[in-house]
Amino acid sequence: MKKKQEVQHIISWFLTHMEDPGSELQYKDPYSLLVAVILSAQCTDQRVNMTTPALLERYPTVKDMAAARAEDIFPYIRSITYPNNKAQHLAGMARSIMERFDGKIPSDPGELKKLPGVGRKTANVVASVAFDKEVIAVDTHVYRISRRLGLSDGTTSLAVENDLNHHFPLELRARAHHWLILHGRYVCTAKKPKCSSCGLSPWCDTYKKQNPQ
Ligand code: SF4
Repeated sequence: MKKKQEVQHIISWFLTHMEDPGSELQYKDPYSLLVAVILSAQCTDQRVNMTTPALLERYPTVKDMAAARAEDIFPYIRSITYPNNKAQHLAGMARSIMERFDGKIPSDPGELKKLPGVGRKTANVVASVAFDKEVIAVDTHVYRISRRLGLSDGTTSLAVENDLNHHFPLELRARAHHWLILHGRYVCTAKKPKCSSCGLSPWCDTYKKQNPQ
């Protein structure tokens, strides 16, 4: 398990360099965030941001989308990855929210997870970003960075999430998700991490292994 002192250094570094990070997905309310996060699975935020304006103009509320069929939604998201599946998920998600939650997006990650197209990661993103719930969503970047830094040696998203919950206090968990995502996108990238310019290198297990003193 990572030493507490090293975790403190990592947290301090993020607090100094990314004081108030946020989602790069564009949204204006829990509904539009949920739609964007469902569309973002294995797709870039930029591509999603190019797609959601027309989609949400046509279906501005959960009720509007619940009245649509997957084939109605498909043309609006055809440039996104897996458009057939995602069109079905969006239609199913909206119908389920109308039937089970009276048209209101649930804030509890456990309830969100029961919606079509919503897995643990999506549920945690929506719960933390839209409702300030103290949960950490583990996506591919969060998983990779956590393991490289040595914050977790878990081999599943759930194991990594549990380790991160151990390291980050409740009030920092929503921010920790963004910290790790942004660091993964722009510095600790999958193929060529920019270790020589990474501010976290003094406390990074991978860096220390590759650069023994
Ligand atoms: S030092 Fe390298 S491996 Fe470690 S977090 Fe920074 S970029 Fe990633």
